Amino acid sequence: MKYLPTARLDRFLEDAAKLRKIYVPVDGEQNRAAYRLWMPGTVVSKALNTTRSAKDFFFPQTENLVGFRRTEKKLEIVDPRRETEDFAVFGVRACDARSFSILDKVFLSDPADTYYANRRAHGLVLSVSCRRPAETCFCTAFGIDPSAPEGDVTFTDDGEGYYVRANSEKGEAFLESLSGVFDEADEAGEKEARAQTKRIADRLPLGTLPLEKFGGGKTKDLFDRPEWSSLSESCIGCGTCTFVCPTCQCYDIRDFDTGREVRRFRCWDSCMYSDFTKMAGGNPRLTQKERFRQRFMHKLVYFPENNGGEFGCVGCGRCLRACPIGMNIVKVLKTLAEDGNES
Ligand code: SF4
Ligand code: SF4
Repeated sequence: MKYLPTARLDRFLEDAAKLRKIYVPVDGEQNRAAYRLWMPGTVVSKALNTTRSAKDFFFPQTENLVGFRRTEKKLEIVDPRRETEDFAVFGVRACDARSFSILDKVFLSDPADTYYANRRAHGLVLSVSCRRPAETCFCTAFGIDPSAPEGDVTFTDDGEGYYVRANSEKGEAFLESLSGVFDEADEAGEKEARAQTKRIADRLPLGTLPLEKFGGGKTKDLFDRPEWSSLSESCIGCGTCTFVCPTCQCYDIRDFDTGREVRRFRCWDSCMYSDFTKMAGGNPRLTQKERFRQRFMHKLVYFPENNGGEFGCVGCGRCLRACPIGMNIVKVLKTLAEDGNES
C-alpha cells in the first residue's frame, strides 16, 4: 500500500505531468471548481465536486466526427481523429467515478462508440475519497461508497495525505512509474480513513431515498402518475440539469459547411428541449411535462430495466444546485414515492 503526504501532492503532480497531461480541479469564481490542465503553481481545489463533471474528458460537449471534401467529381472522406494522447484526471469523486460504469454501458456496448472508447483507453481516472460528504450528496442511496471510489487509482484521504491503491492494470503501471514519490504504508490506515468517511456518509439526510418504488418494470405504475404535471409545471426547459449531469449522454449530430468542406460534428443535446424528438413526421413529446417525465423515467426506470437494475443517477447532487427553479431528482423521487392521488 502506498501513501502520499499532502505536502508531496505537488511533487506527485509534477512527476505525473512529465508522463502524461494531468487535469485537476481548480477553484473558480463563485466557488465553482472546474478541471484545468495542471501546471507548476496550480492549486488543487478542495471542493467536493466540480461544476461540470469529468464526463467532459471522455464525451466532450462538441467534437468533429468526420469531414467531407469535394474536388471536382471526387468525394474525399476526412477522418479528423488523431491518436488521443494519454491523459489523467485527478480528483474524481466516487459519484463521478461510478458514472463511467453507466456511460460505458451506453457507449461501449456493441457497436462501440470508437470516439468514446479511444478516450477511455487513453485516459486514467484518479479518484479521491470524500472525507466529509456534503448534505446535498446522496451517492450512498445508489449503493456508492464515497470512502472507496472506483477508478484506475483510488486516493483515500485521511486529512494529512492519501492512501493510494491501483484498481486496474493501467493504474498499476502508472503508479509503478512514479514509485519514488510515495511512502509505504499498511492497510490499517486506509481502513480507518474509510471508516471515518462512512460514519458521516451513513448519516447523510438524503442517503436513504425511497428507491424501492422505482427500477425496471415500474413503467406502468409511474408513467401516468398525475404528479408529473405539478412537478414539471415550472420547468423552463433550459437543459442545465442535463448538462451538469455526469450520466446524461444524449447528443445531436449536425453538418456544418465551412466553405471548403462539410464537417459532421456532434454536440450534447437535452431531452428537456422542445426539438429533441422533433422528426419529419412530427414530435412525439409535445409538452414540457412529457419531456420532463422522460428524463426522470429514463434514469429511474428505463435505464435500470435495460441494465441489470443499475439506476442512471449517481447522486452527485449537481442538479440540486444548478436548476434555476429548484427542481431535481430528489423531489421527483420523494413525490412519486408517496401514494399520491393528486389530479
Ligand atoms: S440526476 Fe442529478 S444527482 Fe443524479 S447524477 Fe444527474 S446531476 Fe447528479
Ligand atoms: S434545470 Fe430545472 S428548469 Fe432547467 S430543464 Fe432541468 S428541471 Fe427544467
